[in-house]
Amino acid sequence: MVLQPDGAKWSMTGAAHVIPAIVLKPLASVSPSRFTGLRVCPLREVAVTACGARELLPRYPKARVGSAFHRVCELAAKGVIASEDALQRAWVEEIAAQEGEMQARWYERHLIPLEATTRDYQVLRLQCFAQSRGWLRTRGEGSGASVTLQVEVQVSAPGNEAVGRIDLVRTLPGGIEIVDYKTGIVHQADEGEASTSTVKPEYQDQVRLYAALYFTKYGVWPARLVVVAADGSEHNVSFSPAEAEDLLEQARKLRSSVNSQIASGCAPEALARPSPHACRFCPLRPGCRAYWEARDNSPDWPADVRGRVVELRQLGNGTYRAVLENGDTNVVRGLTPERHHFLSKDCSTAILCNLRQEGMDSQGRRFLQTDLTTGYYAV
Ligand code: SF4
Repeated sequence: MVLQPDGAKWSMTGAAHVIPAIVLKPLASVSPSRFTGLRVCPLREVAVTACGARELLPRYPKARVGSAFHRVCELAAKGVIASEDALQRAWVEEIAAQEGEMQARWYERHLIPLEATTRDYQVLRLQCFAQSRGWLRTRGEGSGASVTLQVEVQVSAPGNEAVGRIDLVRTLPGGIEIVDYKTGIVHQADEGEASTSTVKPEYQDQVRLYAALYFTKYGVWPARLVVVAADGSEHNVSFSPAEAEDLLEQARKLRSSVNSQIASGCAPEALARPSPHACRFCPLRPGCRAYWEARDNSPDWPADVRGRVVELRQLGNGTYRAVLENGDTNVVRGLTPERHHFLSKDCSTAILCNLRQEGMDSQGRRFLQTDLTTGYYAV
């Protein structure tokens, strides 16, 4: 089974600007951190977690810094970092590790150094240090006889259909607390007064699933579920055992149903659930036929364009202006040749994702390149 957009002859090589094919494979397990994603679009989760599909779009620099943040806090929590010097070194090393991965991706290289391309880089760095110093103090002083801390606690359901790793389990006299650390925005989009204090539903479900898996493994329900934001603030998530068990059952059933579809030889599109919400942050968009068929020109969808290249012109400042036809005329400006050299070859059909839409005029819809703009072509 192969994910191929539009029946075009996409190369199966790993060459830059060429979309590789994906062979669908069943999901070995479902994790609390990926359950919401699986509900939103099974194709994305299967492709990324089971098939090892190559991401086709860059990660946001802030997500990269968030990964380094999480890793440094984890090392501090585990006692691997034991001093202020080691903390500073760990940050430098983890950021360098992220930049090393970016260096290996032609579409992310230009976003190095992260310090220069990440909004609020210094704020995140200081927040990471503050959280990590909290761990250094806790470990130096001891957590106290009345509190036991366990980090990176593995939990699973029988048969490993569902598995997870809890950031922190606190055992207090009043019971167990399950703690999940987040470096991104913890609250759902502000749609009114109440939403500013509501933890994102996907994060709520994630910790509820941890609670169910913890109970399955240890026979104890936690007394409290907590999501901790980058600034160290703690946010409670309400739950009931029945609700958590029901979520775990839903996760098991969904995995089983998706795997049955794959075993029956379904087309990849049968697993796709394209929508502006699902596709907005999906790194597979360039190669997803379901996405290109479902989307329209409304601003709810990502500012991506696919079409026949009918005009390509290098401007006086060295950048390219490309015109792509797909029923509409799309004019894209500011394309830098270093990032889109394929446009200078014999490129009949191009895909340009993560543009900025500037509006529309008599020539068509107008777009501009952004730091995250990435291009592919068909041969
Ligand atoms: S682009 Fe949309 S439909 Fe396609 S795999 Fe990603 S989330 Fe699913």
